[in-house]
Amino acid sequence: MLSNLTAQAPDKILMLIEEFKADTRQGKIDLGVGVYKDPQGVTPVMRAVKAAEHRIWETQTTKAYTGLAGDPDYRSALASMILSEVPADRLASVATVGGTGAIRQALELARLANPDVRVFVSDPTWPNHLSIMKFMGLPFTEYRYFDAATRGVDFEGMKADIAQAAKGDIVLLHGCCHNPTGANLTLEQWAEVADILQTSGAIPLIDLAYQGFGDGLDADAEGTRLIAARLPEVLIAASCSKNFGIYRERTGLLMALAENTAARDLAQGSMAYLNRQNYSFPPDHGARIVSTILTDEALRADWAAELEEVRGTMLGLRDQLATQLRDLSGSDRFDFIAHHRGMFSRLGATPEQVATLKTDAAIYMVGDSRLNIAGLNRDTVPILARAIIDAGI
Ligand code: PMP
Repeated sequence: MLSNLTAQAPDKILMLIEEFKADTRQGKIDLGVGVYKDPQGVTPVMRAVKAAEHRIWETQTTKAYTGLAGDPDYRSALASMILSEVPADRLASVATVGGTGAIRQALELARLANPDVRVFVSDPTWPNHLSIMKFMGLPFTEYRYFDAATRGVDFEGMKADIAQAAKGDIVLLHGCCHNPTGANLTLEQWAEVADILQTSGAIPLIDLAYQGFGDGLDADAEGTRLIAARLPEVLIAASCSKNFGIYRERTGLLMALAENTAARDLAQGSMAYLNRQNYSFPPDHGARIVSTILTDEALRADWAAELEEVRGTMLGLRDQLATQLRDLSGSDRFDFIAHHRGMFSRLGATPEQVATLKTDAAIYMVGDSRLNIAGLNRDTVPILARAIIDAGI
């Protein structure tokens, strides 16, 4: 049986990690994998996470199963953090295995409700979106998103393309900090997207994996909140991997806003059913860390402060890189780096130029020229800026 399997194409980002590890050059720079690193290159355990784990260790009396939907305290605390005003009579939610699990369950839910569902995704998007949909056999089409000339959003193209989504189709949107481009919608543009979806009856699925990494915890959720306030049905797939730094704990949440309480109950039942079919009870340790932090004033304040430090560090690096490239290039064509938000920016370099950066300067980034800003520090920014100019980008 097993010999009938075909080899799977290796994940490009994971391959890049291996290549980076094998590179023996001093001073090599990893701008590949999407993990926050501090200026020392460490992905730290956040202070509040350590404190919460300590508290859980001291007080937890059982590790018996939670409910299929996960811990209610976690679900309500995270829903409040994301939506601020939670329409409880319309909200169904389940804890999931990371943000990826939430996306997968959202797509499964959409297909359960509408077997003919099509998914509209941004071009480009996080490659795993495409990979999961291909694996599920879900039909999808890409909508224009990135303007290669300005490195901003091609909003006219986006609007024209998402208007093609029909009632019952899904339009997958990045809540903030678009991966891989770093280019994001303004609040006015979110409102226009809401108008289009309201007219067509297509349902937004918002992937919110970087809340707090862009313009701040509340600012990063504004688009999601606007959509949630305006539309009758909304799916939200949230991840705590980045903003709590608990990547390996696999902590996510799928929320479904329904038109009314009866539909909410149906969604809640189906979401619990999907958890049951796929992995039964969702993981709890990360969820408990999150609810411990969010429901304790002091821990929450400390966590929010550390998250702000992380965000500020990335913004500082963006400004430094844009300024140095302005000086070296004698033009403002790299200013988009300072305007982008989140961990990533798409440089707009060719695959050959990306290869040159690797060969000549030991700088690793994903082939589509996505660079992880958090892979830099004050000392490596000038090295990258010089290498970008030398590679003719
Ligand atoms: N969505 C996007 C856009 C992401 O970049 C990621 C993580 N790379 C996720 C979802 C999922 O994150 P996780 O499953 O690790 O929580």
